[in-house]
Amino acid sequence: MASFHYLTKTRYMQGLQCPKLLWLSINEPELGAETDEATQHLFNVGKRVGEIAQKRYQDGVLIAEGHMHLQDAIHSTEAYAESGALAMFEATAKFETVLCRADILKRIKKEWEIHEVKMSTKVKDEHLDDLAIQRYCFDRAGYPINKTCLMHVNNKYVRTGGIDPMQFLIEEDMTEAVSKKMAYIETNVSDLSKVLTCEKCPVVKPGDQCRKPYDCPFFDHCNEPHKEYSIYELPRGQKLYPIFQKLGIELIRDIPEDFKLSERNRRIVQSNKTGKPVIDEKDIRDHLGTLEYPLYYFDFETINPAIPPYDNWRPYQTTPFQFSLHIQKNKGKECEHYEFLLKEAADPRRPLIESMLKLLGKKGSIIAWKKSFEIMVIKNMAEMFPEYKEQLLDLVPRFWDLITPFQSGDYVHYDFHGSASIKDVLPVLVPSLSYEKLEIQEGGTAGLKYELWLSGEMEEKEWQKTHKNLLEYCGLDTLAMVEIMRVLYCASSTF
Ligand code: SF4
Repeated sequence: MASFHYLTKTRYMQGLQCPKLLWLSINEPELGAETDEATQHLFNVGKRVGEIAQKRYQDGVLIAEGHMHLQDAIHSTEAYAESGALAMFEATAKFETVLCRADILKRIKKEWEIHEVKMSTKVKDEHLDDLAIQRYCFDRAGYPINKTCLMHVNNKYVRTGGIDPMQFLIEEDMTEAVSKKMAYIETNVSDLSKVLTCEKCPVVKPGDQCRKPYDCPFFDHCNEPHKEYSIYELPRGQKLYPIFQKLGIELIRDIPEDFKLSERNRRIVQSNKTGKPVIDEKDIRDHLGTLEYPLYYFDFETINPAIPPYDNWRPYQTTPFQFSLHIQKNKGKECEHYEFLLKEAADPRRPLIESMLKLLGKKGSIIAWKKSFEIMVIKNMAEMFPEYKEQLLDLVPRFWDLITPFQSGDYVHYDFHGSASIKDVLPVLVPSLSYEKLEIQEGGTAGLKYELWLSGEMEEKEWQKTHKNLLEYCGLDTLAMVEIMRVLYCASSTF
């Protein structure tokens, strides 16, 4: 006999996104992506945000039974409600096929309020569905709900002497907006309860729902990977794809020469057809002509933790913890390498700023890959550390973008696969250098590792290895720029 599955709020949300996602999660979870380190870290941070929210309720009691003991959790909730508890964390109730846990269930006389906690910085439409299913479940289970609220992170909050739960989170009354969702709830519950007991997987074509509102873990199971050199490699090509599909064109090289495209995409087609790069020597020469020596090849690694780890830090503020710098004093001279990454778990910002300002001096181009990011980080630091503001902002006009020739289409190669990312450009232009051999291969992982270290989720021994891996990764980012610059000089006959 098939086992019984309640429609929990997670399953309700899955079912609204896609009934196939709901069905697969229950019946064939092994087909989905495994929980990776980044997702696990997000769960952990979400749990900590929830614990901060609980501190706003002095009289709250925790329904401690875990998800393997939901019947006990339901009984505990009933018992605490009976005994006059004013607020319950993880309160649990069921009604027919629906079972929900509320982050906070608060008593107001004979009625109750639901307070849901989210890590986001604003209310999103999907949060209303989340609140609606809880309201339906608790209301029908005998907890009359008169208010539904959403608490989310306040990204304007600046940490001062520990996290202040009243300032860190903003609460919004969503009762009216949730009421509108209640009009569809019975139909949704009935439809999704049928999916729970359905023997066959619902037939659903992949579409926008595979990424919205959440990345579906079954994406790779349902979606065929795109072929190499296919039309899907054309940058900003979303509007073109259906046209090419209608014309039966699958590969870029089959796009007719007279098809109207942006200049960059036209050159990508040309490169795919000829098997050669397309290079606008003059434009590259003009861009290189704006460089001023000494050259500083510079790259930050950053984190943006939801919970600020130190004082004078805002939630989700993009904050540097590491940099690599190659300095070339004169044309044709070899570079000197400098780097910054603290060994100890301490606030990295002030020592990083001081080291960076000393090394970057007062003149010369600061070369970055996508300078807007580095400039945004510097402006963030200028705001948080006014004593360095002037010196930091003086760096901004010196930034020079190495991505420009690749993003504008002045240097196009079919093997970039339509990308201007340094990770895709480097192996084509400088095959001897590669990220593939490194333990850390992209900035997201670098930031995650550092956050794990700062939050205490990484052991000291593991950190010793990670520290070395981080230095290797960030160092390659600036060395890659040095070598790519050499290629540009050659390609544009600029010596
Ligand atoms: S990948 Fe798309 S179609 Fe497949 S289960 Fe997920 S949302 Fe549904």
